[in-house]
This record gives sequence, structure tokens and C-alpha cells, in this order.
Amino acid sequence: MSSAACIFCKIVKGDIPSLKLFESDKVLAFLDINPLSRGHALVIPKHHGEKLTDIPDDALTEILPVVKKLVKASGAENYNVLQNNGRIAHQEVDHVHFHMIPKPNAEEGMS
Ligand code: 5GP
Ligand code: ZN
Repeated sequence: MSSAACIFCKIVKGDIPSLKLFESDKVLAFLDINPLSRGHALVIPKHHGEKLTDIPDDALTEILPVVKKLVKASGAENYNVLQNNGRIAHQEVDHVHFHMIPKPNAEEGMS
């Protein structure tokens, strides 16, 4: 299921370009266009759903292993995994997504 107006559904279809990091039948991971740190990635179910509670369990169970792969690939020892639901909770894109935000060590910057 996809939503015609949804940016992330357009990314899934390839109608909007993205820097893909991982893809399977149910999951896509790509770099955030406005990263909070180097390697800031988004992991989404391909199934369109606005909030966590809208996504079928079988699509959700594949997400965290992908987040884990991205953490390992980034080499980060410190990182945040975030998932926002609803405007008041800072959700801007209404397609479920998990942020993986590596936290650089103090001596490292964005580059
Ligand atoms: P939210 O606040 O909804 O949890 O986060 C949405 C995230 O999606 C933001 O970090 C934003 O930079 C990212 N984003 C919005 N539009 C695009 C886009 O077209 N491409 C990519 N790669 N990321 C996007
Ligand atoms: Zn969508």
C-alpha cells in the first residue's frame, strides 16, 4: 500500500531520488536529506502507514535488524534511534520512519 502524496512512498518508488543504504521487499534505508550528523539514516517500511500503530507486525519486525546493520556499518559507538509519531511529537513526514543518528566522538565533526 502506498500514498500518492507521500514523499517517502515516492522515494520507495524511485520517483524522488535518495541515497539508498539497504533495500529488501519490505524495508528501505536511505540517508536523511538534512542530517543531524554524518551517517544520519532513515529506515522505513515500504508499506505506507502514518504512525507506528498503522504498520503490520511483519513489516515492523524487519526494521530493527536493519537499524542494527546501519549502526555497525557506521562504526558509531554512540548513536540515537528515534521514531516520532504525530506533530506534537515532532513527526514531519507522515510515513513511519526510524532515525539512526550516529553521535561522533568529541574530536570529530560532521565531515
Ligand atoms: P521526522 O521529523 O518526521 O521524524 O523526520 C523526517 C525526516 O525526513 C527529517 O530528518 C528530514 O530531514 C527527512 N526528509 C524529509 N524529506 C526528505 C527527502 O525528500 N529525502 C530524504 N532523504 N529525507 C527527507
Ligand atoms: Zn508513504
